[in-house]
Amino acid sequence: MSMSAPPPTADGGHLFDAPSVLLAARVLVDGLNDMILDYAVPPGMHVQRGCRVEVPLRSRQTTGTVLALVDGPHDYTLKPLLRLIGEEPVVSPVLMDLAEWAASYYAAPVEQMLRCIVPEPVRSERHDEKTKKFVRLLRRPTDDELNKINARAPRRAAILRYLMESQGEGEYLSSLGGTPALAPCRALAEQGLLSLEERAVHRDPAGEETFAPSVPLQLNDDQQRALDIILHAYHNGDSKPILLQGVTGSGKTEVYLQAAAQVMAQGKGVLILVPEISLTPQTMARFKSRFAEQPGAVAILHSAMSDGERFDEWHSIHRGRARIAIGPRSALFAPVSNLGLIIVDEEHDASYKQENSPRYHGRDLAVLRARMEGATIVLGSATPSLESILNARRGKYRLVRMDKRADNRRLPLTRVLDMRSEPKDKRYLGILSERLRCALEERLHKGEQAILLLNRRGFARALQCPDCGYVVVCEHCALPLTYHLPENRLVCHICGYRAVVPACCPECGSKNILLEGYGTQKVETVLTRCFPEARIRRVDADVTIRKNALRDILADFRAHRIDILLGTQMISKGLDFPGVTLVGVLNADLGLCVPDPRAAERTFQLLTQVAGRAGRGEVDGEVIIQTYSPQAAAIQFARRHDTDGFADNELGLREKFAFPPFSHLAVLTVRSEQEDMASFALATLHKRLLAVLPPEVEMSDPLPAPLSKAYGQFRYQCVLKAPRARLLADAVSAEITRLSPGDSVIVTLDIDAYNFM
Ligand code: ADP
Ligand code: ZN
Ligand code: ZN
Repeated sequence: MSMSAPPPTADGGHLFDAPSVLLAARVLVDGLNDMILDYAVPPGMHVQRGCRVEVPLRSRQTTGTVLALVDGPHDYTLKPLLRLIGEEPVVSPVLMDLAEWAASYYAAPVEQMLRCIVPEPVRSERHDEKTKKFVRLLRRPTDDELNKINARAPRRAAILRYLMESQGEGEYLSSLGGTPALAPCRALAEQGLLSLEERAVHRDPAGEETFAPSVPLQLNDDQQRALDIILHAYHNGDSKPILLQGVTGSGKTEVYLQAAAQVMAQGKGVLILVPEISLTPQTMARFKSRFAEQPGAVAILHSAMSDGERFDEWHSIHRGRARIAIGPRSALFAPVSNLGLIIVDEEHDASYKQENSPRYHGRDLAVLRARMEGATIVLGSATPSLESILNARRGKYRLVRMDKRADNRRLPLTRVLDMRSEPKDKRYLGILSERLRCALEERLHKGEQAILLLNRRGFARALQCPDCGYVVVCEHCALPLTYHLPENRLVCHICGYRAVVPACCPECGSKNILLEGYGTQKVETVLTRCFPEARIRRVDADVTIRKNALRDILADFRAHRIDILLGTQMISKGLDFPGVTLVGVLNADLGLCVPDPRAAERTFQLLTQVAGRAGRGEVDGEVIIQTYSPQAAAIQFARRHDTDGFADNELGLREKFAFPPFSHLAVLTVRSEQEDMASFALATLHKRLLAVLPPEVEMSDPLPAPLSKAYGQFRYQCVLKAPRARLLADAVSAEITRLSPGDSVIVTLDIDAYNFM
């Protein structure tokens, strides 16, 4: 059967001709809550997935990211893309996949994930990139030419002679006399003798600091074995994660450095994740020093950088100039191409979990990225997370251990001091035990240094008896109950169990059962009173608001201009001070008294890490832990530096109560300035969820959060527990959308939550 010719169309073509299949770009439009629209790709525009584009939207223009290229409709109804922003995609295919995966897992908008991947200054091209005018000689003028120019415009001739003499590649306008030289240079450029261009001046966030090159150390046997296993995996493109469990001071950082150097030498990229940046200036410095001979090879990414700095570092990685990227959590999205190795240092650290939307876990996404890119990944810690330990025990991760300190020093001797039997001396306000006071006095006398840690986490009031140490816990979860003032009840935040507040300690009958906390400032006052001669410095969130404050204090401490360093969690990590012979922990329990399934794990990690700060020099170290619950497993295992023993014990408990890593917990929080709206919205959600969630999902009653009011908003929450996180995200987000709570109520869902406040 023969077909008649198709009818001609308005533009003279034929409706059924071959080119009628149009290419369309599926664009995620910025700032519109994950609105996705298709646009026609104009001929000749080389658009790829991950490109940033300018698009028309109703009567205005806006920007977006290309999610995919699809076949367009056969008519010409689609509006065309207006412009491609930048030549290449800003997001690689792997990072696009990662963004889409994470958005679905953590129930977050894809656009929010993409905002993590492409930092604001890059996506908005708002970078105030510092440029300077730069001139270069294009050809040498003949003597004749030069004489002619000299006769008419002596200044131009002078510039030419200057450039001919200086052997360099060219000069900044500023070195030719600045603005007055601009007009003559322009004229010379028009004559074709010079080029005049804007040249980017790279801003290095570590600009003022210089780093002396360091040489690789001779590895000990443990380190060599760890390095061999990492490189073997790398050569085989094996992305089964390697869990490097090495005691504090075992020389993990040296292993990272040498692995990174080898991978980089083969032209591959390296990504190094560290806990929140301000905490580890030392680690950064060690990487900068090791690669000091390859300037620009190491890029640093962190949130405290200026827009310009972030723009520069990001582009330096994207262009492939920097081959090693270091940074906290969000650096996992660094545009390192041809990625060979990812290192997650202190992989147990809570700062890898983002506490606002998108609430992703940096370590977990790093593991996924490694698998997607075929890169090797190393998770390192002295006190790995129970998630990683369980993965190693189940064979999903490969465990590599380093059980000795690199310098063969002994781990410090740790004493647990029972504060219940301490005489209640008014002068020290129950803050300093006699034992710790004497130990401090002795170090000061000998000219040695000490670190004092105040474990302050949360504000939730658990009830602990200062006389016997008893903590009131939930019958179902074995977690501390939290005191709620308005109703005068003790409540379990995981399962909702309620109990009346005992008038006196159920264990010993003491009436002092409400635990009073104290802060670093109060401790500082007491210390100053005890040791008027000592140089004492306090490090806490208040002090470190100032940029570089922590770095400066640590430098002073290293130079022994400080005798006693007093601080919160932020001084417990990654620091290496040979002069420290004493570490005191003032109140080991406070971290245990929070309604958080990971409370014991965190306390154990904190105590073990901080104890690892003592005795890194010639003199053996001593650690004194003050506590009201000396029998607590977290404290006893930390005393023996026994990570395996702690893991056995704690995994047993977690399994019994079906807590992570044997399940996934999510926190659903509703906030509002009007309390009744918050509680009503959560009650409604709760009721609807009961009807739709699969039976394997357990849900607590809706309750005021332990942090019941913050920033003027009342907070209500409930906790969901599921064998698989996937059971939660879709169902709960659908109900949140259905509720459409309006502007005065904010609903958030935190999958794999680490914060139960
Ligand atoms: P970790 O990261 O495991 O806590 P570090 O990398 O900080 O340990 O190493 C602890 C100390 O041991 C550092 O001062 C480091 O310079 C030193 N060190 C590491 N490896 C070696 C080695 N092979 N020989 C000698 N000293 C080493
Ligand atoms: Zn008691
Ligand atoms: Zn409970």
